[in-house]
Amino acid sequence: MDYEAVIGLEVHAEMLTRSKIFCGCSASFGAPPNENTCPLCLGMPGVLPVLNRRVVEFAIRAGLATHCTIAPVSRWARKNYFYPDLPKGYQISQYELPICTKGRVDIEVDGEHRSIRLTRIHMEEDTGKNIHDQHGDASLVDYNRSGVPLLEIVSEPDIRTPAEAGAYLRKLRAILQYLEVCDGNMEEGSFRCDANVSVRPRGTTALGTKAEVKNLNSFRAVERALEYEIVRQSDALRHGERVLQETRLWDADREVTRAMRSKESAHDYRYFPEPDLLPLEVSEQWVAEQRAALPELPDARRERFVREFNLPPYDAEVLTARKDVADYFEAAVREHANPKAISNWIMGDLLRVIRDRKLDSALVIQHWPVSPAHLAALVRLIDDDTISGKIAKSVFEQMLSSGDAPDQIVAQQGLSQVTDSSAIDGAIASVLAANAGKVAEYRSGKDKLFGFFVGQVMKATQGKANPQKVNELLKQRLAG
Ligand SMILES: [Zn+2]
Repeated sequence: MDYEAVIGLEVHAEMLTRSKIFCGCSASFGAPPNENTCPLCLGMPGVLPVLNRRVVEFAIRAGLATHCTIAPVSRWARKNYFYPDLPKGYQISQYELPICTKGRVDIEVDGEHRSIRLTRIHMEEDTGKNIHDQHGDASLVDYNRSGVPLLEIVSEPDIRTPAEAGAYLRKLRAILQYLEVCDGNMEEGSFRCDANVSVRPRGTTALGTKAEVKNLNSFRAVERALEYEIVRQSDALRHGERVLQETRLWDADREVTRAMRSKESAHDYRYFPEPDLLPLEVSEQWVAEQRAALPELPDARRERFVREFNLPPYDAEVLTARKDVADYFEAAVREHANPKAISNWIMGDLLRVIRDRKLDSALVIQHWPVSPAHLAALVRLIDDDTISGKIAKSVFEQMLSSGDAPDQIVAQQGLSQVTDSSAIDGAIASVLAANAGKVAEYRSGKDKLFGFFVGQVMKATQGKANPQKVNELLKQRLAG
């Protein structure tokens, strides 16, 4: 029996507001434990939440960017459960009437386009964070995260493969990063994903029993955990066993999922309308203002890069995956109009350095190893035959270490290409004189030796001779 997977993803994205959702405490990451707290986000009795207007604006922008309907009236709800990281015993969320519904995210996997429907996007407050294993047997709680605004983005079970899940998450993250709503940092937990996965015999439509997989803190973890679950559940069904509805944790070291607890149902949470907050009204004008504030989004920008710069779709995809990389590319092209060469340098050299130095973990790369103007200047030096592509690689390495402009490096070290015929001729003459035997062999028909002579002349000129000139002159001299 052949089984297919049915996957739905729930993403929690921490919003980049300055303050928390219902109080004025800082929402920033990385402060000393419990520094960003007040009676409200510590859940003291008698306090009243005050909604952060920016949170609503971010939710509207996220909804518009994913083709959602924005509800003119939505409602806050209490989700009741006890846990030490939730001091007031309930989380303020949205339940029956979320702010955004019925959207979609378009993805492409192996050249095939698909739309993954969104059920909803709602706003809620984050919980604090329990810290185990750092203080003997005691568990500690850090409430800095308590009340940090979250977007919960819920997809329909439209995803069929781990690769589609990865493509969906990457696209969703890129959209939120373009909107500057979320920094998308999975390691720091500001972009988190839970996966609901079930399997069913291929060709059937009824849904199987699903497991929820948590603790997925990288794209790779999501894809690997789904691959594991699909095999585990298919094997169970094949052997006539049942799949249990439960929550499972991904163990990244052992690459397995483990049962954590049986899954709660919505009615376990005793949702009810939040009595401390009025229903949220969003006027058409407010939505229009947010629509006007949307930036050019990844899909539109990718298509424009193909159209405007004549780039291959693959280049456009890589360059527009991050807004700041796309901005960098456009800044460099404004300095020197050779888009394909600049794209090659960014994709092949610059992004490698950025990954190695982990500069891409934040929303915006703060310190580029090389400025767009310097990269453009390097490409210009190649295009006007001042240096060869090979020399350019070494100039690039020196730009990385010194931060100097390429023209300066080339001038200081005398790296300019030798195009002057007499200088190249001199090098050719000495190479031919030193290899008289090989010259005779070449002249008697051993054509393959030509490459040897080119190599020797380039070596004699420290790689600075213009290769075309060397070829041209060598042919003449060897013929003579
Ligand atoms: Zn607070």
